[in-house]
Amino acid sequence: MADVTHLITGFTDFQKQYFGASSDLAERLRQGQNPQALLIGCCDSRVDPALLTACNPGDLFVLRNIANLVPPYVKNDDYHGVSSTIEYAVCHLGVSDIIVMGHSNCGGIDALLESAQGKKVGEFIGTWVNIAASARDKVLREMPTATPEQQARACEKEAILVSLRNLLTFPWVKDRVASGRLSLHGWYYNIFTGQLKYYDPILAEYVVLVDKYSQRCCDETSNS
Ligand SMILES: [Zn+2]
Repeated sequence: MADVTHLITGFTDFQKQYFGASSDLAERLRQGQNPQALLIGCCDSRVDPALLTACNPGDLFVLRNIANLVPPYVKNDDYHGVSSTIEYAVCHLGVSDIIVMGHSNCGGIDALLESAQGKKVGEFIGTWVNIAASARDKVLREMPTATPEQQARACEKEAILVSLRNLLTFPWVKDRVASGRLSLHGWYYNIFTGQLKYYDPILAEYVVLVDKYSQRCCDETSNS
């Protein structure tokens, strides 16, 4: 069994910081939570939403899954983990913002692209990432001669837009967006460069929100 001592040590550091005598945060969190935003991110270990945004406990309501996908609204008796999380965030916590944050070099999007070549991907993964099949098909149709890396970067960004569109199929999301009580955001984080982009619906393109950390970053591999 792998040694998890460093995780326990990490927890004691966290405990010291957040439960220490000088912190009133722990006391506020005991009263409940009032996060401003729901962040829907990928499970990838490199893209922890709270770490990336320097948030404290209580700041973000977080949903993570393979490739940060939102399925369309379907009302039946299946186990709707994603839909119930969105419902709780929107209808009970009343978040004012939902951020779908995708990232470069996403294994889930790689699986989506592989499935186009007829490869069966896992027991559950292939079906799950197929939520964004329309994004994959669009990229392959519009960029047939691009490199696999360029297609993957484009598909990662298109998949975020699929999730944003699917969010609007939830009637209580659509109502709140229409009345200005809820805003939807599409973010794209490049793990090569540290750059963060957002989708501008008016320009219909991704625009830099926080530029890459250093010019030393390798543009050839980032394909941002
Ligand atoms: Zn991912």
